[in-house]
Amino acid sequence: MKKAIYPGSFDPVTNGHMDMIVRASKIVDELVVGVLNNSAKNSLFSVEERVSMLEEMTRDMKNVTVTSFDGLMVDYMDEIGATIVVRGLRAVTDFEYELQIAQTNHKVNPKIDTIFLTTSLEYAYLSSTIVKEFASYGGDISHFVPQRFINDIYAKYNIEPKTDKK
Ligand code: ADP
Repeated sequence: MKKAIYPGSFDPVTNGHMDMIVRASKIVDELVVGVLNNSAKNSLFSVEERVSMLEEMTRDMKNVTVTSFDGLMVDYMDEIGATIVVRGLRAVTDFEYELQIAQTNHKVNPKIDTIFLTTSLEYAYLSSTIVKEFASYGGDISHFVPQRFINDIYAKYNIEPKTDKK
């Protein structure tokens, strides 16, 4: 059984994240989407909200589960019996940091390997940070995030709903 974790902040989940989840779930037997509960990071959505958004989006994917974790990811992976980390590479800027983390994790636990999926071209520019920046000014985020969360994101900035919730 190849069990993998796809860790991240997912604050909020974007179409780029969903593309990764769908693709990774076809490569491994079991995929755990791990929402990092990082109290040092000021997040827009609570960890519970982020888990629930991802659960809603992955409900029909049989080998995908969503959890949250804090502390060291390698410890959490031990706990759940996962040996593969899935990460996305968007641009060269992601590379240096990701390489460092992957090598550190492998050093700490040689059973752990990281696989990188290159981002689909249409999402190469997309990040949760960009979504928040755009949404905070009332910009159109309909191409960036799942339709059903658009108004929830605007609501965090006290911006009136712009679309009918589907
Ligand atoms: P983190 O704070 O750990 O970077 P994110 O939620 O921003 O968490 O991202 C989680 C993972 O998803 C990372 O591996 C990141 O590279 C990947 N990712 C983020 N945006 C995209 C995207 N548009 N396309 C593909 N992968 C992405």
